[in-house]
Amino acid sequence: MPEPYDPELGGPAEPKPYASELGGSSEPKPYAPDELRALDRAHVWHPYGPMPGRQEPLIVESASGVRLRLAEPVEGQRELVDGMSSWWSAVHGYNHPVLNEAARGQLDRMSHVMFGGLTHEPAVRLATRLVEITPEPLQHVFLADSGSVSVEVAVKMCLQYWRSAGRPEKRRLLTWRGGYHGDTWQPMSVCDPDGGMHELWSGALPRQVFADAPPDGFDAEPDPAYVARLRELIAAHADEVAAVIVEPVVQGAGGMRFHSPAYLRVLREACDELDVLLVFDEIATGFGRTGKLFAAGHAGVSPDVMCVGKALTGGYLTMAATLCTSRVAEGISRGEVPVLAHGPTFMGNPLAASIASASVDLLLGQDWEGEVARIGTGLRSGLAAASDLPGVVDVRVLGAIGVVQLDHEVDMAAATRAAVREGVWLRPFRDLVYTMPPYVTGDDDVQRICRAVCAAAREG
Ligand SMILES: *Cc1c(COP(=O)(O)O)cnc(C)c1O
Repeated sequence: MPEPYDPELGGPAEPKPYASELGGSSEPKPYAPDELRALDRAHVWHPYGPMPGRQEPLIVESASGVRLRLAEPVEGQRELVDGMSSWWSAVHGYNHPVLNEAARGQLDRMSHVMFGGLTHEPAVRLATRLVEITPEPLQHVFLADSGSVSVEVAVKMCLQYWRSAGRPEKRRLLTWRGGYHGDTWQPMSVCDPDGGMHELWSGALPRQVFADAPPDGFDAEPDPAYVARLRELIAAHADEVAAVIVEPVVQGAGGMRFHSPAYLRVLREACDELDVLLVFDEIATGFGRTGKLFAAGHAGVSPDVMCVGKALTGGYLTMAATLCTSRVAEGISRGEVPVLAHGPTFMGNPLAASIASASVDLLLGQDWEGEVARIGTGLRSGLAAASDLPGVVDVRVLGAIGVVQLDHEVDMAAATRAAVREGVWLRPFRDLVYTMPPYVTGDDDVQRICRAVCAAAREG
């Protein structure tokens, strides 16, 4: 074992005493904000960040309801209304008494036990609940530890299904451009090849089949020429394609674009006809965000495999799930390797599963459709002003998602500062300033978020 090394001292340091030797319950001495920032910059990776980091992150001390409390005032603000729901996940806001109670209750029983050879009520309850609330043919649930892993599992299911069916050559994926499915290897291979990291990884990533991005507009009439091209592409590759994978209705991190649900019906029909499985990645769209409980509901179609994540635990802990039909599960089980060879260490984590069940019950126990529609109405009226701003090319709202698209790359620092000055947390990307507020955001706070989006669009 290497010597413990203390970078502050620049040489081997005294081994750190155990907490028990310090008297057990003693809390570590809090860092001053400057100290925290320096250590963060020196040691801690942030999403899509360089190392050492840029000095940009704000320090959050706590969060409650729809507000993040900062460790120190920034642009005169100590509290920010969260317009991001922590990347689509915190739909009930922070520090929610019901979710806190679910966490505490489970914590006192057990936070985790392995899932191989053992099972427990939190996982069984959650899986059963997910089967109940997702489209009818989805019957079986694999509890994964993040969205990206749930997509890996979905891909493994599809490839293994065809392998078991004696068609191992069906191992490519087909998707449309503009998508985002996560940052691990298989998900990355079906992300938008232009916006994603494809060039960096060309040669290393599995090569998938790409259709053009679906034409814009949730309400737009489906384009017959696009439909024909999509069908042709699937037909041309049906012998080598295991599955079509798409985000239904809303392409999220790939560009916040909305498309007609009619294209999902086209995919369902083509996949049925041509012996290709259909995967819906509902990690971003699930649990009401687009106005239906799942975006598949806009089209009235059901996939063979479906991923959920993000809002699954109400933003409390990392957990995702891959659901599949009995046809897929039975197909896999008939193969030479009759098992799904996947089993994360923290599979089925009881703490996350308990909170997830509580979050789903909390959602379904209220008029979530009304709340999402209310926020959508607020976003529509509050963001209308953005249309007149110079450099704005589009303003769009669907469910509780509001997007302002610019004709240039957003200046992140300037846009963030402008939003913070309005007392709001936003995280724009590429040419987009957008918001997905928690469903509990009050009307005044929705308008405050809209003012911040406009300010960020103006100054970014
Ligand atoms: C966020 C996201 C993922 C990846 O989930 P992680 O939990 O970040 O791994 C996959 N697909 C979609 C549609 C997402 O929005």
